[in-house]
Amino acid sequence: MSDLLKKDATQRFMFDTSDARGELASLEHSYADVLAKHAYPQPVQQLLGELMAAAALLVGNQKVDGLLSLQARSEGPVPLLMIECTSDREIRGLARFEADQIAADATLADLLPNGVLAITIDPTVGQRYQGIVDLNGDTLADCFTNYFVMSEQVPTRFWLGADGVRARGMFLQQLPADVIEDEDERVDSWNKLLMLGDTLKTEELLGLDNETILHRLYHEETVRVYDPLAIEFKCSCSRERSGNALTSLGHEDALNLVAEHGGHIEIDCQFCNAQYLFDAADVDQLFSGAGVQSPSKTHH
Ligand SMILES: [Zn+2]
Repeated sequence: MSDLLKKDATQRFMFDTSDARGELASLEHSYADVLAKHAYPQPVQQLLGELMAAAALLVGNQKVDGLLSLQARSEGPVPLLMIECTSDREIRGLARFEADQIAADATLADLLPNGVLAITIDPTVGQRYQGIVDLNGDTLADCFTNYFVMSEQVPTRFWLGADGVRARGMFLQQLPADVIEDEDERVDSWNKLLMLGDTLKTEELLGLDNETILHRLYHEETVRVYDPLAIEFKCSCSRERSGNALTSLGHEDALNLVAEHGGHIEIDCQFCNAQYLFDAADVDQLFSGAGVQSPSKTHH
């Protein structure tokens, strides 16, 4: 196995012989970090991994400068599935689930019946953008492909896979006519790339390194491969943000809550399990406008 696969990274590639580009994502450490926070059933682990791989691909593809979030919601056994990835390539994620309602072979439709996926980009500067797609495809990859077909009208195809150890993704996107001018040839060339991409089995996507995958699929093409870009698990929670959430309660209610909970309020981060404690003095300080002071986060 190559060194590349030991790191969490995305890697872009470009076809010199066709108007198309692509990217491969491979996540292992960050995926393990996300899975370690809660006892996720296997089908939920798979969805989390696929969504992480999709986020890693989108953050580069959408030229995000800020925060990309993917939020899948349903009224089924997985009410929420959420991944956030920053343009600094820091990723975190979580899912809510009803373990006793999840069969080992549950499909996307079983887990998130009538689900919707919101793709949100919060740029550092400028306006928030949100796109919504129904989760009515057979797989998450189909849903992302549908999303691009509907919203961007740029031919795009996603392949996603995850097995609880590794999360992998690949996408291809057509580029404006340049290498191939003739429209029929252009369509044929694109369809051929897709057809070859579809021959990749999920086990191969999960088990092979980028170089092997690209050689196996596209050895007849000239593919230019770019340097991989690292991605890592990091949670953006902080004592300050947790404190800000408390201020929305109002001073008196916050103090009452402290009293009701034996002298302190505990705010747990669901992404990383960090725990933030606030006692009456902390609450007074928050409402005095002095902000949040003292200890940083503690972990279980
Ligand atoms: Zn956190």
